[in-house]
Amino acid sequence: MILELHKKLKAGNISAKELAEEYLKIAEDKNKVLNSYISITKDYAISHLPDKIESILDGIPGCIKDNINILSTNTTAGSQVLKEYISPYTATVISNLDKFTLIGKGNMDSFAFGSTTQNSYFGPSLNPHDINTVAGGSSGGVASAVAAGSAVFGIGSDTGGSVRQPASFCGIVGLKPTYGLISRYGLIAMGSSFDVIGIMANTVDDVALILNEACKYDPKDSTSLNIKKKIDYSKFSDISKLKVGVLKFNDDGVEKDVITAFSNSIEDIKKLGCSVKEVVIDHLKYVIAAYYILVPSEISANMARFDGIRFGYHPKGVKDLEEFYIEARSKFEDEVKRRILIGTYTLSSGYYDAYYSKADAVRRLIKQEFDEAFRDVDVIVSPTSPTVAYRKDKVFDNPLELYLSDIFTIPANLIGAPAISIPNGLSCDNLPTGLQIMGPQLSELNILSLANKLYKKYG
Ligand code: GLN
Repeated sequence: MILELHKKLKAGNISAKELAEEYLKIAEDKNKVLNSYISITKDYAISHLPDKIESILDGIPGCIKDNINILSTNTTAGSQVLKEYISPYTATVISNLDKFTLIGKGNMDSFAFGSTTQNSYFGPSLNPHDINTVAGGSSGGVASAVAAGSAVFGIGSDTGGSVRQPASFCGIVGLKPTYGLISRYGLIAMGSSFDVIGIMANTVDDVALILNEACKYDPKDSTSLNIKKKIDYSKFSDISKLKVGVLKFNDDGVEKDVITAFSNSIEDIKKLGCSVKEVVIDHLKYVIAAYYILVPSEISANMARFDGIRFGYHPKGVKDLEEFYIEARSKFEDEVKRRILIGTYTLSSGYYDAYYSKADAVRRLIKQEFDEAFRDVDVIVSPTSPTVAYRKDKVFDNPLELYLSDIFTIPANLIGAPAISIPNGLSCDNLPTGLQIMGPQLSELNILSLANKLYKKYG
């Protein structure tokens, strides 16, 4: 889609202004129902149009998750405490995308903590496939916008699945690249050793084209990878010799339709000529526990800056510092409070060794096990999410229920590996299911190439 639009723009069949206006109109109409955008940036879009079309993304309409800073735009991270915040600078990934057209900032669970967008101060984003269901999360607004056709592509963040799970719920493609491949400079941090910026679009080709632009070494991010050999991710490789591992998992809690769709895709992978082999990860049962100790620990450190003085809600008319802190922190959404509390506990001196150190050791064991598995296979496939999109009125009384649904997406974040979610057919209720393809670090070309072949069937 991007290539065709680029050709039209370049040939002058449509101007960047006309394209921007067309997408802004769709965004404004659809947002009334879907709530994909926290802000639709019409003035910004029109005042930043490219003079001439040079690079591939010039003039292409995009939706950016609202935890990524863009100079002079409102960046809320989906939270009440940042609802007035105006970015003083632009994230590197945004500068790398040249003169794309910013349609708006995508809705998200506050500070990216969640899987439904129900934790957003601005209300949930709905799923264009069925507006009685949510778009998933935390980058649900971006997925909803891309699936509804109000943006050609989207940029989100993925700490434990936040690009892939909403992509799966909304029937689009979502890529979480290798940790460090895309600069995090300008992303509001969640769990810094897990966070990556990810890409969403309707096709694998589009995701590959955006990745080409997005991944440049950035000295402003100390974990940015400096890869000397430039890869063209849109030149897919031959995958007929690929060794595909099929993750063995416990069926409990995985919906029947998801299992059926997954089994069908294994047959399709075999038809492509790939060899297929079961992969057992003994420590899979510990990934949720390790993640939900390590990530809140990192969160509790990262959230310290939202103290109402440096960033965040600044209370007025309070009598002393203690009351100031209490007031400032009281504005955090419930899930934010929960994670700060868990993280403060797991890092506290009496419990650090019992929780944080242990979870960190488990993370290392999981990495070792995956490293070993990747000596045998090139990629590992699994469902993206154990369920299709949740009903919008579903209440999760126990947060653990929702945490457990991250079982397939979290491993890639724990080990810093790339993974993609592609549409994998519909459930009986006509809701999208997703297939995840994960590979060892820097195997993006392999997973995109296999994804592209399979996408042809279900996309
Ligand atoms: N659902 C996961 C969580 O709530 C993932 C969030 C994310 O990737 N930002 O932690």
